[in-house]
Amino acid sequence: MKHYEVAIIGGGLAGCSAALHIAKRGVSVVLFERGRCGAQASGVNFGGVRQQGRHPAELPLARRSRGLWDQLPELVGSNCEFVPTGHLKLARTDAEMAELEAYRNMARDFGLELELVGKKRLHEMYPYLGDNLAGGSLCREDGQANPRLVAPAFSRAARRAGADIREMSPVAAATHTGQYFEIKVRDEVVSAAKLINVAGAWGAKVAAWFGDEVEEGVIAPNMCVTEPLPLFMGPNLGVCGGSIYLRQIPHGSVIFGAGMAIADPEKIRARPLAEVTQEGARLAIEMVPRLANALLVRTWTGIEGSIADGIPVFGPSLNVRNLFHAFGFTGHGFQLGPGAGAVLCELALDGETRTAIDGLSIERFQKVASSVGRH
Ligand SMILES: Cc1cc2nc3c(=O)[nH]c(=O)nc-3n(C[C@H](O)[C@H](O)[C@H](O)COP(=O)(O)OP(=O)(O)OC[C@H]3O[C@@H](n4cnc5c(N)ncnc54)[C@H](O)[C@@H]3O)c2cc1C
Repeated sequence: MKHYEVAIIGGGLAGCSAALHIAKRGVSVVLFERGRCGAQASGVNFGGVRQQGRHPAELPLARRSRGLWDQLPELVGSNCEFVPTGHLKLARTDAEMAELEAYRNMARDFGLELELVGKKRLHEMYPYLGDNLAGGSLCREDGQANPRLVAPAFSRAARRAGADIREMSPVAAATHTGQYFEIKVRDEVVSAAKLINVAGAWGAKVAAWFGDEVEEGVIAPNMCVTEPLPLFMGPNLGVCGGSIYLRQIPHGSVIFGAGMAIADPEKIRARPLAEVTQEGARLAIEMVPRLANALLVRTWTGIEGSIADGIPVFGPSLNVRNLFHAFGFTGHGFQLGPGAGAVLCELALDGETRTAIDGLSIERFQKVASSVGRH
């Protein structure tokens, strides 16, 4: 039986980043991905690299990850089209403006600087916005990247660093013998001293193999892209309540997301919905009226794990030593991906991390399975 120090289940951005960070420390690591690395949520998302608006429990991880986005060329050999375009969160009412102000004050404690922009200045700075807005909050260091490029770039860099990246390798079962993990993939069983579960929308299923019970639902944000338009948009746009979000990519197309499509994690299928696309287009045009004449060229969606309180399960297992989970990113794990891998590497190799992740612990669900002893 082949033995590794660390095994990873899931080749999304979180898993590929963990593999890279672990391999760079010279430790043996294998990653199992059922399909292709980055083909699920990590490769089909909106591409928002956004810290603004995150739950305070997630901000330390988001801050850690933001530093890594600047280092992509050194880490993976490409910037993956990461551009710090900024992120402008818009308010439609004075009450929403007050929410943005309260968030700005809270975020300062995490070193995240946000600038409030009043109604008059908003329209001077961004004349392409619709006129039903009360103001906004700008995060200059937020931005966007091309999701199709990022996880594959991390997987290639991990392989170059010595990681054993195994695509088309579905893990059918994993157990803990009391000393190490045994992982069954097709006809082979490999063993590992440590196991990282980054299986995305299938993460709770893997966690349940070890008695870590968490309810993970599934969401499928409905995405659309227009034909290329002359460049006009500055920062990515969002709105209080999250009903619509938009960004313009360097070749001119405007990508927007609004509402939810449908997904079936068992069949590994997801598809956008025409009526959701139609309402999304209406909201996009309300926010940016010049989109009224733009042609929509494609719609799509993806399969994303979702936790009821809106934040992921992140950190050590409650039941099994040397098992670490990071799943259920609930629509906002792309920005977190590079940092998630760095923190998982620290947890697995050092037993601790310098990033505050306590608020994301599986402990908040208080469901320790009594049948599975802590090994
Ligand atoms: C349409 C959409 C838009 C989004 N927009 C944004 C955004 O703008 N900004 C943002 O920050 N986040 C966004 N997200 C969320 C973000 O994409 C995800 O949170 C993030 O990519 C999760 O990464 P991951 O590595 O945890 O999971 P995934 O990318 O889902 O990877 C998990 C992998 O595990 C594999 N796997 C599962 N079970 C097994 C098994 N038994 N054996 C082997 N492999 C297995 C799967 O095949 C999959 O490839 C969006 C998500 C979607 C779907």
